[in-house]
Amino acid sequence: MSDIAPASDFFDGLLTQIRHDASEFLVITVSRCGRYAPSPTGPLHLGNARTALLAWLQARLANARFVLRMEDMDRPRCVPGSTVQIIDELRWMGLEWDEGPDCGGPHGPYLQSQRDQLYIAAYEHLSAAGALYPCSCSRKDIAIASAPHQKTTVYPGTCRQRPLLESRPPSWRFRVDDRTVSYCDAIHGDLSQSLANEAGDFVIRRADNVFSYHLAVVVDDALMGVSDVVRGDDLIESTPCQIALGQALGFATPTYWHVPMMYDGDQRMAKRDGSHSIAQWRQRGNSPGQMVGYLAASLGLVTMGADLSAAELLSDFDLESLQRCLRAQIGN
Ligand SMILES: [Zn+2]
Repeated sequence: MSDIAPASDFFDGLLTQIRHDASEFLVITVSRCGRYAPSPTGPLHLGNARTALLAWLQARLANARFVLRMEDMDRPRCVPGSTVQIIDELRWMGLEWDEGPDCGGPHGPYLQSQRDQLYIAAYEHLSAAGALYPCSCSRKDIAIASAPHQKTTVYPGTCRQRPLLESRPPSWRFRVDDRTVSYCDAIHGDLSQSLANEAGDFVIRRADNVFSYHLAVVVDDALMGVSDVVRGDDLIESTPCQIALGQALGFATPTYWHVPMMYDGDQRMAKRDGSHSIAQWRQRGNSPGQMVGYLAASLGLVTMGADLSAAELLSDFDLESLQRCLRAQIGN
């Protein structure tokens, strides 16, 4: 390790390069980039497919680059062969991308499991800035110390001031400021969250040295030049933490499009039960057009029973009309 530059220098170098690239882009054209970032934990279900379709539509309507990235940090949950299957399923739907694990590109690698050097660099950058501290609390410690009325567990900051316990390896937490993060979501409008009261200091690096989803997603989106994040609205709650983290790393905040999740009755769709998977749809002999039509109709973009390609759907919309339809879906 000693023959390479310290990670924080490497990171500063990357930031300088990104800012340089960004200013070049600004001169030439307004550069936008969207992405779809599934976890290869099994075949895609219809809810995943719908979010992928929307992310692709948004990017193409914005004349943006579109990136496919695999979020495979949580290795035990990953299913072998899943990445190949997901790529095949997205292509079957008629989606295409400019950069991804199958076609490469200038911002790779496109598998999170191969991007550890970048996460280490970001971690060391934060650590050098005094933004992190070690935490040796167990889940049980945190549950006991948390305010009982809160619906999600907010870490009470137990280890902020205390010396590190030697008994177990620590996780590393990001010290949040006592401030409210506000942003304007393209679908939900103005949203805000008090970091200290509603989020708490969050884990960046787990005790087993795996980097958290927060860190990986923020670093990847920034280093891949992603300007527009289209993803399921189950991630609204974690967005302010990611904005704060991005700010601490010197990144620009992307525009968020938190799109409605798809439900099976009153249940969120899950990969593990295998129902409503694209694979199952294909096995039943449905065409890509039927699937695109069904997914678009479920959002009121077309009438139910429509059979159209992703490219045809694209030609029916502009960015504003897509945004209007999605806002109407959530009554906004
Ligand atoms: Zn702790």
